[in-house]
Amino acid sequence: MTATHRPRTVLISGASIAGPALAFWLHRYGFEVTVVEKASAPRTGGYPIDLRGTAIEVARRMGVLPLLQQAHIDTRRITFLDPVGREIATIAPHTLAGSVEGRDLEVARGDLTAILYSKVRDDVEFRFDDTIETLDQSADQVDITFRSGEQRTFDVVIGADGMHSHTRGLLFGPEAPFHRDLGYRFAVFTMPNTLGLSRELVMWNAPGKSAALYATGTSDDELHAFLNVHQPQQAGRSQEAQANQIAETFKGSAWKVPEIIQAMRNADDLFSDTVGQIRMPTWSSGRVALVGDAAYAPSFLTGQGTSLALVGAYMLAHALATHPDHQTAFAAYEQSTRDFTSANQALVDHGTAALFPTTAHDLEQRNVRLRSLTTIPTPTPRPAYTALTLPEDPAVNSSAKILE
Ligand SMILES: Cc1cc2nc3c(=O)[nH]c(=O)nc-3n(C[C@H](O)[C@H](O)[C@H](O)COP(=O)(O)OP(=O)(O)OC[C@H]3O[C@@H](n4cnc5c(N)ncnc54)[C@H](O)[C@@H]3O)c2cc1C
Repeated sequence: MTATHRPRTVLISGASIAGPALAFWLHRYGFEVTVVEKASAPRTGGYPIDLRGTAIEVARRMGVLPLLQQAHIDTRRITFLDPVGREIATIAPHTLAGSVEGRDLEVARGDLTAILYSKVRDDVEFRFDDTIETLDQSADQVDITFRSGEQRTFDVVIGADGMHSHTRGLLFGPEAPFHRDLGYRFAVFTMPNTLGLSRELVMWNAPGKSAALYATGTSDDELHAFLNVHQPQQAGRSQEAQANQIAETFKGSAWKVPEIIQAMRNADDLFSDTVGQIRMPTWSSGRVALVGDAAYAPSFLTGQGTSLALVGAYMLAHALATHPDHQTAFAAYEQSTRDFTSANQALVDHGTAALFPTTAHDLEQRNVRLRSLTTIPTPTPRPAYTALTLPEDPAVNSSAKILE
């Protein structure tokens, strides 16, 4: 194999959303795919995520739309509370997100991963409980040593290993230059459903802090608790340091907040992180490229991370299938997809973070807007959600041909 030949063998790091979706498309186009995942199995459970716009079309082309529709959470309402726990407004979720009722979907992240995994598990090699230890690329190949000790050679390697991508670190160095800190810190965990909530979200806000309880099932099921604080100074990267910072910020808060903080202390599934985006001047270097959060995490404030991961995987696979070598393929992927990811990252610049105001004045303004949302008709979907038209799948009747 020389640098000008179409790659055949692909290693993907990460088996969450972008990884399995990319594996699906690459297998369909005749590539030999290996996926390495540091967890011991596909990660189940997890918070609800949204799928909107162009990503719905990717899901349809993958043949997973009916399964996702079955897994759709169908949240009935979102209730906003003021600092003392009084109701401000109750609204329909699609009204708030600018999504399309009856078409856009909300599923548990673990359900989506399981569905994507089920589509590829028999067709591609999965290496769970393992990770890339060293990566050495030459003009012709990428030599990989796995943590398990095995050495393998691939034509290209793709990092689909999330916001704090290990592959990005090996390729481009520390995260800091690519990380845009949005100033918020969050924690998610499950807790007992002491409020008897059912398929609904209740969100409490005070300036600079919010506590949300998300019931994705019935009143018999656990709640997903979500705490978000605006704290420009980060206490540290460890889960404990971040949880302490969050708990400190909520001290003295009313409503059920003390109970939720206690539940965070008791949780065995606490996940805490900074709220930020990944913005990179280029998504590839040589024979290695990035997809999903690893390349262009938009932050949960946009609700678009999963959709970008699915669309990015489709576009990258399409580029690799229809270009004669990895260089032109990676360039085409970036050229066709960057505007879409940028438009979605820019959603936080145009009001999405306004759900979490940091001052009393902004919180009051938000509440006025929320009250008016209950009386105005459904707004049109945000243009960013559909700001990319997918090229035809070259495996179906298409002018674009899969190159040999
Ligand atoms: C609290 C919260 C709420 C969110 N809400 C939404 C929402 O409403 N809508 C939405 O679209 N998105 C939401 N997101 C974002 C969404 O989860 C991500 O954007 C999406 O999962 C990105 O998928 P990904 O496959 O690129 O990366 P990830 O889902 O982060 O997956 C990365 C995978 O790589 C694996 N990995 C990591 N390091 C290594 C390594 N060294 N070797 C091998 N494997 C490794 C991980 O175990 C994981 O399986 C939310 C995120 C959070 C944290």
